[in-house]
Amino acid sequence: MRVYNFSAGPATLPAPVLDRIREDIPDWNGTGMAVMEVSHRSAEFVEVAARAEANLRSLLAVPDNYKVLFVQGGATGQFAAAPLNLTRPGDTVDFVVTGSWGVKAAKQARPFVEVNVAADAAADNYASIPARDAWSLSGNAAYLHYTPNETIGGVEFHDVPDVGDVPVVADMSSTILSRPLDVSRFGVIYAGAQKNIGPAGLTLVIVRDDLLDRARPETPSVMNYRVMADSDSMSNTPPTFTWYVASLVFEWLLANGGLEAIAAINERKQRKLYDFIDASSFYRNPVRPDCRSWMNVPFILADAALDKAFLAGAAEQGLANLKGHRSVGGMRASIYNAMPEEGVDALIAFMEDFARRKG
Ligand code: PMP
Repeated sequence: MRVYNFSAGPATLPAPVLDRIREDIPDWNGTGMAVMEVSHRSAEFVEVAARAEANLRSLLAVPDNYKVLFVQGGATGQFAAAPLNLTRPGDTVDFVVTGSWGVKAAKQARPFVEVNVAADAAADNYASIPARDAWSLSGNAAYLHYTPNETIGGVEFHDVPDVGDVPVVADMSSTILSRPLDVSRFGVIYAGAQKNIGPAGLTLVIVRDDLLDRARPETPSVMNYRVMADSDSMSNTPPTFTWYVASLVFEWLLANGGLEAIAAINERKQRKLYDFIDASSFYRNPVRPDCRSWMNVPFILADAALDKAFLAGAAEQGLANLKGHRSVGGMRASIYNAMPEEGVDALIAFMEDFARRKG
């Protein structure tokens, strides 16, 4: 039986995409082979790769002066790739840190650049975003890095920070494609695939043309934005199966009305869940209301001794992977694009019933 899977990533995929994969294996496109058995340089696969890019460009309205790259190494690879591609030794990079992924991104950049932590919400236990006028920007940064959605803490920016001409580099792993986006506000956007794009193994990078030629000579070719752009992301063997699934996910989004349509559903899903939590005296979300994540909803029970019973009861109802991240405890419901609204309704019904029985 299929469950509602609230995992933070690798995360649930759209059911029609899974059906299509099942149909396509073992005879994909009349080739007599599964897609992961064909050469990445075959005409059939090159067509998949090109369609994936075209569909992503259409979904996000990516301007022509941006390259779309499909690379490996995860978002973590980009923590190092960004400074290697965009700075010279001695350059300063501004970091706005609103949770543990921002902390990790800054740490990975430190061997390469002067890290200026322009703002850090640690004192508030990463439950809010420091006000823009309180950021101490260096004034000469090669770029500013931030994490629009912190997957663990459930803190999300609901606008793009204005930092003038400094290129903005954003780790969009857990928010990309959840709603329309003005790509022209960014220098580089990157995201691991395993939440809103497809299975793990693929990393999306969207980079503005004028930033392609700044890489340090020692940058490994698989991390080099120029090399990847010039080779259509095939300077070496790409993760073909993941790329193919991503293309199906993009098609699924387009067939269902694109990002405006999914944003309306996502807005409703998160509002229902937060409204329920806020109205309850048994559950609590610690994040300041104006920066709560649409995708990752952490919550705690009135009595942590009930966590085990909550998780077991939820699993019995087909509600999987609600355990919070080990660093914060409690619960977390990740409600990415592929989580149907009925899944959120089922979760709320279970939470209501559990609180009534145990509260
Ligand atoms: N950034 C964010 C916001 C994430 O959620 C994650 C993974 N959960 C990462 C970075 C790390 O991604 P990866 O495992 O693909 O390196």
